[in-house]
Amino acid sequence: MDALFHAVSGWRWPIAVSMLFLLLVWESASPYFLFFLKKGKERVRHGGRNVFLGLFNGLVVAAVFVGLWAKMTDWTTAHGYGLLNLAGLPLWLHFAGAILLLDFWTYWWHRFNHTLPFLWRFHKVHHSDPFMDVTTANRFHLGEIVLSSLLRIPVLFLVGATLGELAVYETLLFANTQIHHANIGLSARADKILRIFVASPDMHKVHHSRWLSETNSNYTSLFSAWDRIFRSFKLRANPHEISFGLDDTDEPDQQTISGLFRMPTGKNNPPKST
Ligand SMILES: [Zn+2]
Ligand SMILES: [Zn+2]
Repeated sequence: MDALFHAVSGWRWPIAVSMLFLLLVWESASPYFLFFLKKGKERVRHGGRNVFLGLFNGLVVAAVFVGLWAKMTDWTTAHGYGLLNLAGLPLWLHFAGAILLLDFWTYWWHRFNHTLPFLWRFHKVHHSDPFMDVTTANRFHLGEIVLSSLLRIPVLFLVGATLGELAVYETLLFANTQIHHANIGLSARADKILRIFVASPDMHKVHHSRWLSETNSNYTSLFSAWDRIFRSFKLRANPHEISFGLDDTDEPDQQTISGLFRMPTGKNNPPKST
């Protein structure tokens, strides 16, 4: 079964690129916000910057971290270490447990990024986008990616997930991350059904709000249950009124690729809820 999961890792990039293409088409045909209406050049510049960051981060992860994750998962599997390997679980339960526990960690990692000032320095690059669309799913500072990739090593040890399970989780996570960032005209009813299970576009719009008590909500990237369980779930009656971005990152020179790389070294205002 793990061979099947491993096969998914080969499909991660084609799935991500296909979804990016489809969601870009959907955003063009039926955008939720009209900030790029008749502003094709700005849209291309904005998307190009975000996708460049995503490709750059993806190459670093592939070159440095995937091999380390593989070593750790092989080692825990061979020696029976990790929570999931203690009980001799059937494969399906091991798989479900791995997806749930990895997502539980992703929720808390994201939450720590909002509460610890040092982590917020990097994470604010993601929140600094005033025009959230599908490309924003790629917009992360390398520092955040390196820190989360390093911390994943002990997490894999504790959880006892296989590399195949991690590949499936990452594929699901990035697919849903692209959907909930997309500037698509999803109906209110469709969003309501979607968010019973996973983070939806209306949930994540609130997370990217400039109003900091909204920024500090809806931390989940996959299962919406975490925000309900840990009381961080928040919705807006009219998501059309949400303004994206951060008040201290609006200068044009902060929105260039070099400005985004330098952002963590600038002044830092952790998002205190009001
Ligand atoms: Zn965030
Ligand atoms: Zn986001």
